[in-house]
Amino acid sequence: VDGPVRQRSLWQHNLALVLGHVGAATPTSRAEVAAATGLTRATVSSLVEDLLGAGLVTEVEPAPRTGAGRPATGLVLNPGGPAGLGLEINVDFLAAAVVDLTGAVRHHVVHRVDQRGRPPERVLADVARMAAEAVDGVDLTVAAARLAVPGLVNGDGLVRVAPNLGWRDVDVPGPLAAAPRWPALPVSVDNEANLGALGELAAAPTPPSFLYVSGEVGIGAGVVLDGALFRGAHGWSGEIGHVTVAPDGPLCRCGARGCLEQYAGQEAIMRAAGIRADPMLSADVAVARIADLAAASDPGVLNALRAAGAALGIAAAGVVNVLDVDTVVLGGSFAALADWLGSQVERELRERVLTADWSPISVRASALGAAATVVGAAGAVVRDLRAAPASWVNALR
Ligand SMILES: [Zn+2]
Repeated sequence: VDGPVRQRSLWQHNLALVLGHVGAATPTSRAEVAAATGLTRATVSSLVEDLLGAGLVTEVEPAPRTGAGRPATGLVLNPGGPAGLGLEINVDFLAAAVVDLTGAVRHHVVHRVDQRGRPPERVLADVARMAAEAVDGVDLTVAAARLAVPGLVNGDGLVRVAPNLGWRDVDVPGPLAAAPRWPALPVSVDNEANLGALGELAAAPTPPSFLYVSGEVGIGAGVVLDGALFRGAHGWSGEIGHVTVAPDGPLCRCGARGCLEQYAGQEAIMRAAGIRADPMLSADVAVARIADLAAASDPGVLNALRAAGAALGIAAAGVVNVLDVDTVVLGGSFAALADWLGSQVERELRERVLTADWSPISVRASALGAAATVVGAAGAVVRDLRAAPASWVNALR
């Protein structure tokens, strides 16, 4: 039930409105903000003072104007304002990124270490150290952190299950806060493919509804409908890696048979291509090797990618038939293999999606490639801050 709008929430609302306008049309002026938002110029000036004071907005030289009158001071989002820290735990790497208020990536580090079999507290201690290095490495105030994990995450940051890490019911925020190097930031935890989809949404001109499929050792998906992430009843949507491709197929880590991961996961592709798993070979090098061999028309590798692409297309077709999205974005290590996977995925979609004759489904590589998730995680912090700046402004008062 909607209650009356109080003075305080009115200020919060209008503050977000003004910041949203500055973010959407930079540089802009106080007069343009007033005209665009319908707020009085006095109200806009007061709100802009709040935003300037909190370092969210900064003034720039006025643009030369052709019309009469004194040119107005320009307003832009402050690239030196509060930033977001993105962190990622994946099966065979850890990553950290800082994105500034304008969305620019200011720091990005990847550590290629297999995380399987390591105790969660050791992994989280490494994440805490990477967070500290990221915060120290940028000349910005980091407002908060978002951590991506390849598994099902509860709203309170409890990882219910991350099959490829072997995690079950692992509390994340608690051990992070207790880690000696953790830079005392508020942290929230989300699924890696969800954050990858958000990264894609922010980075590229994307259609409002798309399926983002992230291929690592495991395979996850983020579903974006009408410009918003679709999370499902528990926040667990998008587990496309465990969609059945063949009911009597090979056993999956989740306990079921014939899951997509068993056909199109990184290790399944390597196995099918006859490339032996080498513990000394990091996954990005392995994926680059697969791409090189495919580019050289190695028949075994081409067959492996055809089979993986077909399985991916079969699973994606099921999603597209149900949700009517018109684009499939290939992210994670799939991005580097999109030249070969993409045509197979398209072929399956053409054959299996009922509506494909009237509206072909386009398949493309992620604009951010393998960095989509960690950059998306950092960007999500900034996006939330921009959508609701009041608490940041208040904290500085
Ligand atoms: Zn499975």
